[in-house]
Amino acid sequence: MITTGKFQRWNRETLLNKLSLRCSNSLLHSRPIPFLLFLFILLGSQWSCQKNTPQNSSKASQPQNGTDPMSDKRKLMVQQLSEGEIDDARVLKAMSQVPRHEFIEEKYQDRAYNVNTPIPIGDNQTISAPDIVAIMTQALELEPHHKVLEIGTGSGYQAAVLGELVKEIYSVEIRPTLARQARSLLNKLKSEGKLHFNKIEVIEGDGYKGFPDQAPYDAIIVTAAPKKIPVELQNQLKVGGRMIIPVGEFYQELQLLEKVDAGNGQTTFKEKIIHAVRFVPMIQQPQSDS
Ligand code: SAH
Repeated sequence: MITTGKFQRWNRETLLNKLSLRCSNSLLHSRPIPFLLFLFILLGSQWSCQKNTPQNSSKASQPQNGTDPMSDKRKLMVQQLSEGEIDDARVLKAMSQVPRHEFIEEKYQDRAYNVNTPIPIGDNQTISAPDIVAIMTQALELEPHHKVLEIGTGSGYQAAVLGELVKEIYSVEIRPTLARQARSLLNKLKSEGKLHFNKIEVIEGDGYKGFPDQAPYDAIIVTAAPKKIPVELQNQLKVGGRMIIPVGEFYQELQLLEKVDAGNGQTTFKEKIIHAVRFVPMIQQPQSDS
């Protein structure tokens, strides 16, 4: 995607160079005319070419809204999502509201709205690509009154998207540094009016255990891959609730589970495989932290 960006810039500059060449060529090939008239046309034509120089056009493309320099890129990302698998208007709206670049280190921010690019967030972890975030969120069929459990807070971006859609989110992160950073960033963005969530609680802990204090949940989203689906998470899902989870080691499948009533007080799970995916592994103990 970066290559594409450079390519587009290069193309634009080439085009503009061609344009100025065409301007001067048209003068070179003009019929002999009196000197003053020639000078007048020369100055006039230079001005009209200069209007299209990259310098001036970049000024014109500066954001109108000084508070969010990325809003055009974000709009394009949402448009690309809507042209792909995402047709849930609420999910598209949520993704158009959450400033993804704020969850990403400055040196990677130019890629923040590339629709299919995961990005490092420190501690060898990654923030999932926007298309995966959207696919997972859409699959949960969330409603405004829902209570959701997330395993793997990471940067806090997925939690922020959920926060635009449901009433309550509990997000468990095993790495204390990431948990603290995500918690303070979410609160900062809310206080700046950039996020509108009602409740997001970030919990430092081991997601294999879920978060029994607030169970059962209408939906569970897991953003790190265990080898097998943790039974604790299955137990903490409401009957009728949905869980989306990547499962496996090198080869992983994104699975959607729906907990259904099997009669006689028993429950069972309907399973659907959504995609082949590649998530960071779900771990038992953090390997590195400060
Ligand atoms: N949802 C995140 C991306 C998650 S990356 C975002 O939007 O940025 C996966 C995260 O899962 C990492 O932060 C990792 O530390 C965390 N993780 C891995 N194993 C875990 C476990 N057992 N319990 C809780 N979090 C875990």
